[in-house]
Amino acid sequence: MNLFAAEIQHRLDALRVAGLHRELRRVASPQGRQIEIAGRELLNFSSNDYLALAKHPALVEAAAKAARDFGAGAGASRLICGSLAPFHELEEAIAAFKGTEAALTFSTGYAAALGTITALLGKDDIIIVDKLVHACIVDAAKLGGAKLRVFAHNHLADLEEKLRWASENKTAGQTLVVTESIFSMDGDAAPLREIVALKEKYGAWLMVDEAHATGLYGPNRRGLAEALGVSDRIEIQMGTLGKALGASGGYVCGSRMLVDYLVNRARSFIFSTAPVPAAAAAATAAIKLVQSAEGKTLNEQLWQRAVEFKFAIRNPQSAIESPIIPLILGDESAAVAAATKLREQGLFVPAIRYPTVARGAARLRVTLTAAHTSDDVATLTRALGDLKSGISNLKAP
Ligand SMILES: *Cc1c(COP(=O)(O)O)cnc(C)c1O
Repeated sequence: MNLFAAEIQHRLDALRVAGLHRELRRVASPQGRQIEIAGRELLNFSSNDYLALAKHPALVEAAAKAARDFGAGAGASRLICGSLAPFHELEEAIAAFKGTEAALTFSTGYAAALGTITALLGKDDIIIVDKLVHACIVDAAKLGGAKLRVFAHNHLADLEEKLRWASENKTAGQTLVVTESIFSMDGDAAPLREIVALKEKYGAWLMVDEAHATGLYGPNRRGLAEALGVSDRIEIQMGTLGKALGASGGYVCGSRMLVDYLVNRARSFIFSTAPVPAAAAAATAAIKLVQSAEGKTLNEQLWQRAVEFKFAIRNPQSAIESPIIPLILGDESAAVAAATKLREQGLFVPAIRYPTVARGAARLRVTLTAAHTSDDVATLTRALGDLKSGISNLKAP
């Protein structure tokens, strides 16, 4: 083995020792309430397909039709010759759904964050992010070269301190605050109203990542910003089309000027082949569905399951803020062992470890979907109860 290969092998071995090694599990079925892994049907509590749209016939049919009408691939980046009609339809649907002037789609949410933040901020600018924001925002902040400041999770006084520092220390640049609305690995909600008030007080812009909230919150299920009545005071709303919307891709929405600027400056948009038209058509169908009576029903089913689970495992007084329920174990190997035990009982609940969460904060991450039944929730609760007696430090939030 040459030195480079030996080094890589050494790093892999270290990951195993630390309980941090990851591997892909081949799934032989569509995403859904049950998935087939290694010839076994497992009850699935791992997916972000909150409204069970990923295999919904309306999305599947829209994707198939777009493939027939527009082909399998887009042929080039949108600016070269790949700006096919399904992308424009999707962007019009997102802007109408979110109530913004315009929207722009990217191949993924990751690419949306990367392209947007690096287009807007350079070394003269300041970016202030919540401690728990998603890796794509952290990566974008680092790549763009802006001064990065991190405020303690959902901590308004700390955010204000960072904003005050920014207003005293910036020379020519701008300040952008970035938070998620519902946090992906903790399932708690950001105090968006207060964050909006703070960024306005200091003249900063705000970008809110609604990856785990779009389709789930608000009277029109637009997201937490809608639920809290602050949508039109947020300069940049982003999210993914791959979670509650059941398809694939990322979006940014806001003013026409913002979108125009991103088309010209977001490198992950400009220098990347457009996504497949089928994905865009599926996402457009999902946005229609979310706004329909069926979407409302699916949403209600999801929240019913979340409430049932809360009463089954948690202090009923505790707020249930999302369908993401982390069960913190702390130790990485313990989390993996717990997930393995659950799998042996036919339940798929992922162990989430560093670097997705902090070291020593490993957890089982339960996600509920509209496809789960009350019986499924009861099955999960029983299995977790058995687990709890075996593992002393399993904590529900
Ligand atoms: C999943 C996720 C993303 C990335 O979106 P993809 O479409 O999966 O690339 C961005 N932000 C948050 C908070 C996420 O959970």
